[in-house]
Amino acid sequence: MIPFNKPYLIENEFKYIQDAIDKGILRGDGIYTQKCNSFLEKKLGVKKVLLTHSCTAALEMAAILLDIKDGDEIIMPSYTFVSTANAFVLRGGVPVFVDIKPDTLNIDENLIEQALTPKTKAICVVHYAGISCEMDKILEIAHKHNLYVIEDAAQALGSFYNNKPLGTLGDLACFSFHETKNIISGEGGALIINNEKFIERAEIIREKGTNRSKFFRGEVDKYTWVDIGSSFLPSDIVAAYLYSQLENMDKINNKRMELWNNYNDFFVKYSNRIQIPYIPKNCIHNAHMYYLIFNNLEQRTDFINYMKSYDINLVFHYIPLHSSPAGIKYGKVAGSMNVTDKISDTLVRLPMFYELDFKQQDIIKDMFINFINK
Ligand SMILES: *Cc1c(COP(=O)(O)O)cnc(C)c1O
Repeated sequence: MIPFNKPYLIENEFKYIQDAIDKGILRGDGIYTQKCNSFLEKKLGVKKVLLTHSCTAALEMAAILLDIKDGDEIIMPSYTFVSTANAFVLRGGVPVFVDIKPDTLNIDENLIEQALTPKTKAICVVHYAGISCEMDKILEIAHKHNLYVIEDAAQALGSFYNNKPLGTLGDLACFSFHETKNIISGEGGALIINNEKFIERAEIIREKGTNRSKFFRGEVDKYTWVDIGSSFLPSDIVAAYLYSQLENMDKINNKRMELWNNYNDFFVKYSNRIQIPYIPKNCIHNAHMYYLIFNNLEQRTDFINYMKSYDINLVFHYIPLHSSPAGIKYGKVAGSMNVTDKISDTLVRLPMFYELDFKQQDIIKDMFINFINK
């Protein structure tokens, strides 16, 4: 049996969790949370990183920081996870869905300007499969129209655009450490603050709307309720697990890249019959996902069922948000969604996790050949 994903231990997870317990701090913002924040700040070369309990939480913080209010519009793809949209809808915002590009499956930067209205407040990009959106063009549009840019970089830790790390390009960026991502802590996330004006308020929002972070640093002599907020911080036990993974980030992503390349060297031979991932020249990706795109829904369903009958688990991906019940109720569609609808019906993700091996990949390749010769 080959699962689609498998959570794993890389090195010192147990040791660090034990150490956190021994040090007697299990709440948020303990020793390991600080270590993770500092690690990411150094690795990405950014001013401020705040660990959260999920990428969803980091997106919700972003929406609060941007002061999203009733009717404010946020440009985003429909082909994404619900949290991208939900975070803004919770503040009264309106997701405005724009179609994706058929090659990278990222938001089509050429369709953004026609979706803008006087109510547009921000562009929320999603770097699908850890492959960057066309950020030069998107940042130029944002600058021209005075819009904020949020990166939903949930899948993109360790990826680059023009040699700049993803997560460092927008005003704010959000990572996920969910067990299905490259670097994991079960549930987990981080908010990256690139626009410095958001730093102070972000600390407050994350600490239930209080200035407790300032109090811990000795900058105020008591802490109090100063703004809206919630509890967005993870327990230090989660951070301890995560720190072991972060220390091994390059090792993890390198191994995934070997697996990704092994898939790609094989499937490229069939690229006249199925579509394989496209990596633009100015992008370095983190081998988050390997997918195949079939010609139609029937073919994809047959393939998933065929593989399933041999205990190989493949999964499809997003159901478009624009045509979902909540998407219809809370969102708006800007233009045709043809590519989104087509990709949603035809894309399948292959098993991809740290402990996958070449032998298992050989089985998957053999079964693929059997399937297409059927
Ligand atoms: C995984 C994912 C999320 C949600 O991450 P959580 O940490 O589970 O909240 C959001 N957006 C995208 C694009 C994702 O892939």
